[in-house]
Amino acid sequence: MLYDDLPRMRLAHLPTPIEELARLTDFLGGPRLFIKRDDCTGLASGGNKTRKLEFLVADAAARGADALITEGGVQSNHCRQTAAAALKAGMTCMLVLSPGYADEDTGNLLLDRLLGARIMRVESTGARAGAMRDAADSLARAGRHPYIIPTGGSNGLGAIGYASCMREIKDQSEALGFEFDAIVSASGSGGTQGGLVLGAKLLDSMTRIIGISDGEPREALAERVREVALEGAQVLGSELALADDDIIVYDEYYGEGYGVPSPQMVEAVRLLARKEAILLDPVYTGKAMAGLIDLVRKEVFEANQNVLFIHTGGTPALFAYRESFAERWR
Ligand SMILES: *Cc1c(COP(=O)(O)O)cnc(C)c1O
Repeated sequence: MLYDDLPRMRLAHLPTPIEELARLTDFLGGPRLFIKRDDCTGLASGGNKTRKLEFLVADAAARGADALITEGGVQSNHCRQTAAAALKAGMTCMLVLSPGYADEDTGNLLLDRLLGARIMRVESTGARAGAMRDAADSLARAGRHPYIIPTGGSNGLGAIGYASCMREIKDQSEALGFEFDAIVSASGSGGTQGGLVLGAKLLDSMTRIIGISDGEPREALAERVREVALEGAQVLGSELALADDDIIVYDEYYGEGYGVPSPQMVEAVRLLARKEAILLDPVYTGKAMAGLIDLVRKEVFEANQNVLFIHTGGTPALFAYRESFAERWR
């Protein structure tokens, strides 16, 4: 594949396993459900950003960078994985963090500090880009070589991590003896879904890629996913023609907004814990699983289909949301 020629820094434990969710399937009575354990990519608690960082950090190294700068909310899984990747690459890491739900020294923020990242606080999401540029300028003036990684690592190069994940899934499904009818994952900055869409096209796969929005309306997120997929194709020097129905986004499962707990999220996290001993997260996979459960109940899938949910990680944030899960809140 085209992406095999790109510089790549091995950071993730791959392939991540695919497990059958037999008890959840029984409970819901719909299609056969499977889960791809990208929460097990292994880099300081793992998650989906590690696949993107394999390409982004390799690019940074090839350009002679010695410092990574990135941005996110206080409980950003992307920032935590970037801090870890920087260490592996022998670089320093600066995180520009904006306020969000669970703004305290627990969960990912605690791990950022443990990993020794430099943390710069800004007052809003809108202030992050300027702060990253300022940080890059001041590092450059000090003779350093900074490399800025965008939100969620979601540019064309980062998305290649999920284009190549699509081939990993194809190899695994061949061993299982079928092709997945649909892949469902949480979708936010678009790199995961955009990469999967690109990867599916490169493989001529018929698998439907379904993204569950973490807090943005359908049209806006679908547009971002499209842009990232096209940018990824450009990185590979390949032509990509996308039809409207190649990008499927559901935006009815994020509740009151990004990072805000919802009763359906709590129910989905608890259900997966108790049926499958799988720990989801409160911001992305809990809401995406609540979406998958609802889609199964609405019979969006046929009973004889095979559906793969991607566990994109985020488990450390559970500890920052302890009030949502405390028994006394049941
Ligand atoms: C970042 C993240 C997502 C969303 O992935 P994008 O590539 O940003 O769309 C989903 N789940 C978890 C746990 C994440 O940290």
